[in-house]
Amino acid sequence: MNNKLLLDNLRCIPDWPKKGINFRDVTTLFKNPECIKTITDEMCEIYKDKGITKIVGIESRGFVMSSAVAIRLGAGIVLCRKPGKLPCETVQESYKKEYGTDTIEIHKDSINEDDVVLLHDDLLATGGTMKAACDLVKKFNPKKIYANFIIELVNEDLNGRAAFDKDIEISTLIQV
Ligand code: 5GP
Repeated sequence: MNNKLLLDNLRCIPDWPKKGINFRDVTTLFKNPECIKTITDEMCEIYKDKGITKIVGIESRGFVMSSAVAIRLGAGIVLCRKPGKLPCETVQESYKKEYGTDTIEIHKDSINEDDVVLLHDDLLATGGTMKAACDLVKKFNPKKIYANFIIELVNEDLNGRAAFDKDIEISTLIQV
């Protein structure tokens, strides 16, 4: 799958947030009604028969399509956030970034062993963020974990898919 409408509407910002980075700006997809319908349709087509009960949106661009897809699939939404933003007791996971360490968390009562979980973020680069999110969700011992991204950066140096354990099924809508 490599949807032309999505590819044509995705903006690239050279040298942002720093020199040498070509930032894929997903807001140009989010502001376009045809694009958000296409993303919703494609994600629902992939996951409609998987029995998804919870969608975990990764802060913050992962929140947007998680809600649209959750409504269509009849699933709940769980927020995966940076520390200090969730008001109740959380479970955390820390992971290494290029410089230093990051932590993400979700509410302790947000997922249970009967859940089939779809994690969603806007973009797959190294896979570090989503791998940490998968490891975090695994602590809840759900029945199955899927992971989806709108955009996959395809680049020998990145090879983001290699970050994941084999039991996690990955899907992406466009590769750039
Ligand atoms: P990774 O952990 O796979 O290296 O990086 C992916 C995470 O960083 C995602 O949460 C994503 O939102 C953010 N990210 C990294 N590069 C880009 C980019 O070019 N565009 C967008 N929209 N997000 C990016």
